[in-house]
Amino acid sequence: MSKKEECGLFGIYGDRQAAQKTYYGLFSLQHRGQESAGIASSNGDFIQCHTGMGQVNRVFRAGDGKLERLKNPVAIGHVRYSTTGSSNIINSQPFLAEYSRGQVAIAHNGNLINASLLRDEYEAYGSIFKSTSDTEIIAHLLAKPSHASKADPIGHVLNHLQGAYSLLFLFPDRIEAARDPYGIRPLCIGRTKEGGWVAASESCALDAIDSEFIREVEPGEIVTFDKSGMSSRFFVTPGQVKPAHCIFEHVYFSKQNSRIFGENVHEFRKRTGMQLAMEHPADADVVIPVPDSGTSAAVGFAAQSGIAFDMGFVRSHYVGRTFIAPSQDMRELSVRLKLAVIEEAVNGKRIVVVDDSIVRGTTTRGKIRALRKAGAKEIHMRVCCPPIRFPCFYGVDFPTKEELLANGRNIEQIGDFLEVDSVGYLSLAELLSCASLPADHFCTACWSGKYRIAIDSIVNKFALERYQMNFFDDLE
Ligand code: SF4
Repeated sequence: MSKKEECGLFGIYGDRQAAQKTYYGLFSLQHRGQESAGIASSNGDFIQCHTGMGQVNRVFRAGDGKLERLKNPVAIGHVRYSTTGSSNIINSQPFLAEYSRGQVAIAHNGNLINASLLRDEYEAYGSIFKSTSDTEIIAHLLAKPSHASKADPIGHVLNHLQGAYSLLFLFPDRIEAARDPYGIRPLCIGRTKEGGWVAASESCALDAIDSEFIREVEPGEIVTFDKSGMSSRFFVTPGQVKPAHCIFEHVYFSKQNSRIFGENVHEFRKRTGMQLAMEHPADADVVIPVPDSGTSAAVGFAAQSGIAFDMGFVRSHYVGRTFIAPSQDMRELSVRLKLAVIEEAVNGKRIVVVDDSIVRGTTTRGKIRALRKAGAKEIHMRVCCPPIRFPCFYGVDFPTKEELLANGRNIEQIGDFLEVDSVGYLSLAELLSCASLPADHFCTACWSGKYRIAIDSIVNKFALERYQMNFFDDLE
């Protein structure tokens, strides 16, 4: 599936190789964003930061001395794919700011639904923003004197935010890791062998630096790493808000070896494949995945159906994002470049193709055509989630409604568009049944249209009024 991903966070406290380990941590989170990367580190008194456009190994090149200059015992890092704010160096993170209390660097994964509201308010009072990303708003909130003077400034500030946010704050003497009250995006913590503390979007980044997974940051929790070790506090009463974890993290975003929302991603996806085989069986000779995110589910589909598993596609991991003109034929060429068909595995066979999800459908159709060209006799498309019909306001940049394959098409019409012999989507109920957490602990808005954090104008108006009240209260 082709869709814009979000961001990856990594932070480490108390390790003499903090910047280097952050580099490796970010490398393992590269699947969450390839547009920009950056690391900020502190020597205990002073934070320095380097960010740049492109993948981690472009921003920090071997021998360029940039990592060496960041050599400090505390660091945070970020990989970004813009969900708000344009693709530009000014929006790369960590976002470094100086305010009355000193320096802070912020790394953010998610999307604030009240960002423009807050920004308008600040601009109306003369604040100047240097980026277009919503993360800078958090710095402005933190810098506001009436907020900075609170007993827990970060907790106070987080209570002003609406939407999805997993955050790392680097202060000269500590790291604070926080997750929104709904726990929409993942964030976990771990321990290095040397006794340092780590926070990361996914546990694959902890594995990458050979550190131990401890637990996930709870929704509404702030975890601090400083010279006293690790401590925790909540900025909302625990249990007050029912979680709304993004189940798309399980379906597509997160890496198979990661542990998120209480379980391993590979195991979850395998179960979706098994459910899919029961819900939409197919008479076929071979099950092939669309790698990489469809692979685990295809393993489950093959195991459940008894149909042989094979690799029909080979993914090129050396093709980054292509910036070629977005014409249809160029897009299809780029698909061919990224995903090559193994003719010998598909020629003359009836094939079940398993993919995690379908957004526009044009990329999928390109793959189907390539399989036909390689001699596939029948193609049965199986998808590990329901048809996507609604936008995401919490950090995933789906195309407009009009561009979504499932918009205005029934299953038969989707099959016709994809040029397949049959198509079957996993139902929402079955998808949710594959998770170990209760069904009502997940956000499913892009399939169901039910938004747990309301996004309608009435709510925003209410938020505006509430915010204005706070704003003027704070000025008094
Ligand atoms: S709308 Fe979909 S992609 Fe967005 S947070 Fe909810 S489940 Fe995830």
